[in-house]
Amino acid sequence: MNDKKKVIIIGGGPAGLMASGQAASHGANTIILEKMNRVGIKLGITGKGRCNLTNIADLSDFIIHFGKNGRFLRQSFSRFFNTELMDFFNSLGVDLITERGGRVFPKSAKAKDILRALKSWIQELGVEIRYNSPASKIVINDGNISAVIVNGKEISCDSLVIATGGASYPATGSNGDGYILSEAVGHSIIPVRPALVPLEIFELYNGVLDKLNLRNINVKMYINGKKKREEFGEIVFTKYGVSGPVILSLSEYAVRSLMEGQKVSISLDLKPALDDNKLDARILRDIALKGKESVSNLLKGLLPPQMVPVCLEYTGIPATRRVCDISSKERKLIRSWLKDFKLEVSGYRPFSEAIITSGGVNTLEIDPRTMESLIVKGLYFAGEVIDLQADTGGFNLQAAFSTGWLAGQSAGKE
Ligand SMILES: Cc1cc2nc3c(=O)[nH]c(=O)nc-3n(C[C@H](O)[C@H](O)[C@H](O)COP(=O)(O)OP(=O)(O)OC[C@H]3O[C@@H](n4cnc5c(N)ncnc54)[C@H](O)[C@@H]3O)c2cc1C
Repeated sequence: MNDKKKVIIIGGGPAGLMASGQAASHGANTIILEKMNRVGIKLGITGKGRCNLTNIADLSDFIIHFGKNGRFLRQSFSRFFNTELMDFFNSLGVDLITERGGRVFPKSAKAKDILRALKSWIQELGVEIRYNSPASKIVINDGNISAVIVNGKEISCDSLVIATGGASYPATGSNGDGYILSEAVGHSIIPVRPALVPLEIFELYNGVLDKLNLRNINVKMYINGKKKREEFGEIVFTKYGVSGPVILSLSEYAVRSLMEGQKVSISLDLKPALDDNKLDARILRDIALKGKESVSNLLKGLLPPQMVPVCLEYTGIPATRRVCDISSKERKLIRSWLKDFKLEVSGYRPFSEAIITSGGVNTLEIDPRTMESLIVKGLYFAGEVIDLQADTGGFNLQAAFSTGWLAGQSAGKE
């Protein structure tokens, strides 16, 4: 008879794969239940297919990126953090590189290499993966975990790890099942909403700006007319509004404010390197050079061509006006538009376009030293299903790996 501890992991994402390897290396008979026909689908598309798996920031800095729930991660990070994760992948033969902002990627620039390494690691440890196996119910006996129901069949277990991810990009398999499973066994769920998500804008200028990518711009976010946030970097216009790194990192604040019924707007400084005087001098110089040309040509020297009609619409200057005929009032209008292009935010995109989910299983009901539920004995949590969310930069994957590592160890131990 097999008297090994039986550990079941629901979900084969980064958290579940790491948890399974840890449980198996502690001698447990370990099974991953994966609802899709493959594991790690989301992992495969992270970092635009390159997988920004962690960040070299130090512990205190790292924790700040998770906001108020960062403290919950202190225990798991102190056991298995970024250097341990990098050593772990190096030991599996994956070379890594660190890029701007401390972001760590596989040297091959292929997220698939991270997934492949994890899969062969757990295969060697004897983890069994059951595909097309959606967990639909958790069975509890006397406050202890007892079994899980999959495709109508009960599978008994000694420990169970919920690593079902959040609700974003549901086509990858993470569609919020974990919240239902957890709530059904008595856990409270902090309301979920899309995070790191593109924003929708009222005025779309007939889509002329769609796909326009702007680097090195300064973005200010206003709530009810008051400046609340400011970020510098890259934004991308979309069919519905705006996206790109700066917008994604501002989105958490924007979504929260919109949900509270507040008015959200952003202002783009398209010439952050030039103050008002320098910008005026630059425009005057261009006017002197292009006196006989149209104002459109003048603006083409200052802006990507897609933005020219938008600037003309705002300033009300006819496109054919000769540069030498621009009044000083019109010059001022151009200048103020370049420094303060205002866009009113009308909403945010759905879960299907959100990088992560904000909210999830209440951290107050999980022991941060083990990841065990404080409500059901033998039940553990790992990854995005927990109410944890951070900026872009590799922080979210590190949290999935660290909580997975700890949950798997705790679940696998006798
Ligand atoms: C486009 C995109 C790019 C991203 N890029 C980065 C990045 O570069 N760096 C970074 O740090 N983070 C990134 N993230 C976030 C990161 O991918 C997630 O935080 C991380 O994948 C969470 O890991 P997880 O294991 O908790 O959940 P997931 O990766 O979501 O895995 C959950 C798994 O559970 C399975 N599952 C769900 N319900 C059930 C059920 N009932 N039964 C059985 N199986 C189930 C799912 O099919 C899935 O395989 C990105 C996210 C997206 C969408």
